[in-house]
Amino acid sequence: MQCRCCMQHINQAHSRCPICGFPTNSNSSAGVEKLAKSYRADRLSGITVSVKFFYYERSKSGELVEGKSEYVTIAQADTLEYRSVFWFGKRFNPPQVDRNIQLEVRLGYPERAVFKTLTAKIEDTMNCARLGLYLDDGFNVCLAAGDENNYVLSERTPLIQSTVQK
Ligand SMILES: [Zn+2]
Repeated sequence: MQCRCCMQHINQAHSRCPICGFPTNSNSSAGVEKLAKSYRADRLSGITVSVKFFYYERSKSGELVEGKSEYVTIAQADTLEYRSVFWFGKRFNPPQVDRNIQLEVRLGYPERAVFKTLTAKIEDTMNCARLGLYLDDGFNVCLAAGDENNYVLSERTPLIQSTVQK
């Protein structure tokens, strides 16, 4: 069966989803979609996903050198929809696209922050004009690089801590 909240496939023996804690016995009851939606928003509330941006400047001798960097918030997690890409508004000058790119991600929680490095195989799309976020089953998130018609997804990383023992 599938958790109605986080879409993860789960074993029927569990009374709650091992990933997100949503009760499995509510699956047949009326209004479960509404319940799942508000539970999901509640689990994701207060979480922000940011990506580290590097800025380049021209040195006096005309070379491009790395300047400052900063984390830019891509989205509030509770605005993401399952299995769809949320595109960040800004477009980029595509960097060198003949290799994988490493994206430094900051997951911000009310009391702490978690830092991850995610890899995306840009050569599969040759396009990284935009960045997006893809919310996958089980409250996992991937970065998307490309545009609406042609994009690649990075590795996945969990957005929430499991609430129950597996
Ligand atoms: Zn779940």
